[in-house]
Amino acid sequence: MEEVDCVVIGAGVVGLATARALALQGREVMVLEAASAIGTGTSSRNSEVIHAGIYYPQGSLKARLCVEGKQLLYAYCEERGIGHSRCGKLIVATSAAQVVQLQAIIEKAAANGVHDLVLLTRDEARALEPALECMAAVHSPGTGIVDSHALMLSMQGDLENAGGMVAFNSPLAHAVFSQTGAVLTTVDGTCLNANTVVNAAGLNAPLLAGKFEGLPAEFVPVSHYAKGNYFTLAGRSPFGRLIYPVPEAAGLGVHLTIDLGGQAKFGPDVQWVESADDLVVDAARGEAFYAEVRKYWPALADGALQPGYAGIRPKLHGPGEPAGDFVIQGSLDHGVRGLVNLFGIESPGLTSCMAIARCVSEMLQNRH
Ligand SMILES: Cc1cc2nc3c(=O)[nH]c(=O)nc-3n(C[C@H](O)[C@H](O)[C@H](O)COP(=O)(O)OP(=O)(O)OC[C@H]3O[C@@H](n4cnc5c(N)ncnc54)[C@H](O)[C@@H]3O)c2cc1C
Repeated sequence: MEEVDCVVIGAGVVGLATARALALQGREVMVLEAASAIGTGTSSRNSEVIHAGIYYPQGSLKARLCVEGKQLLYAYCEERGIGHSRCGKLIVATSAAQVVQLQAIIEKAAANGVHDLVLLTRDEARALEPALECMAAVHSPGTGIVDSHALMLSMQGDLENAGGMVAFNSPLAHAVFSQTGAVLTTVDGTCLNANTVVNAAGLNAPLLAGKFEGLPAEFVPVSHYAKGNYFTLAGRSPFGRLIYPVPEAAGLGVHLTIDLGGQAKFGPDVQWVESADDLVVDAARGEAFYAEVRKYWPALADGALQPGYAGIRPKLHGPGEPAGDFVIQGSLDHGVRGLVNLFGIESPGLTSCMAIARCVSEMLQNRH
């Protein structure tokens, strides 16, 4: 049977960042990926925003890893010439009640170590973005966008240069954990021995963990899927910055993001679904987008929005329940030597990928 020191399951942005970090520590690393290419899951179905770390509860993993991850990611993109832009974002209040919330957003961000937010009057906001309508806004100059595929390719390159590899078309079927390590079996029946296993299977991570013999069932969370649909705008973006409404319950509201080519998209909305494969955008949902977007961009013309794509948030809590934190579960949590499970790595998972990788590799160095 083949022996590998570390196996990472999943070649999304988090799995690749983690595999890269372990390989750069000098460990032998193999990534098992179910698909035939890197980043075909949630990592290519998101907004590609480098979040500043504004909204998350103080002391949460999301707050800490987003702020740390943002700094690591900007530095890595600059060093490697990966496409990115610190374009900034405006959080816009379109009602008197929302104006009151802006100060609380600034304070929440400061508690997370984000000190560069600035409160703007309507006129100041419109001086930055003339097409915008609002009563007041917060400017976050540290928010940006990144070419997520170029980022993943670069991390795959680092992994391979350090001697690691990605095995494509290799879905893990189940694993047996014991004090001497893990025996992993892929769907085609191939078996592999590993000392360390990192479950970075994204939406599939909880279901997969349910097939880990030796991991008590109480450590496997129930998956919930919150689909986010995007609608794209034909032509160039009317805005140079990202425009976000004051956040709603399960998502960040129907916001406008731009890509590095200057194209704009609106979304993601929040649609709870039963299946992680439910990725078709229902054109009828576009109607609700017009009303939301016109609150801050009244000039949006009828018929300007086209169904785009959808991504699914790997939620650990269902509709109406409070948003959860990232779960990074090592042996001190579940008692299984050499296993780290990554659950609920929804937004800001892209921003946080290098900080999550650092956290996992430190846990494993400390023999979790
Ligand atoms: C709508 C939406 C918008 C978002 N916007 C942002 C944003 O702007 N900024 C931000 O920071 N974050 C954002 N996120 C979050 C971010 O996209 C995710 O946190 C991140 O992509 C998760 O990466 P991952 O590697 O954990 O998962 P994935 O990218 O899903 O990768 C998991 C991989 O595991 C593989 N896999 C699954 N099962 C198996 C198996 N049995 N064996 C082998 N391989 C397997 C899959 O094929 C897949 O390649 C957004 C998320 C959504 C849904």
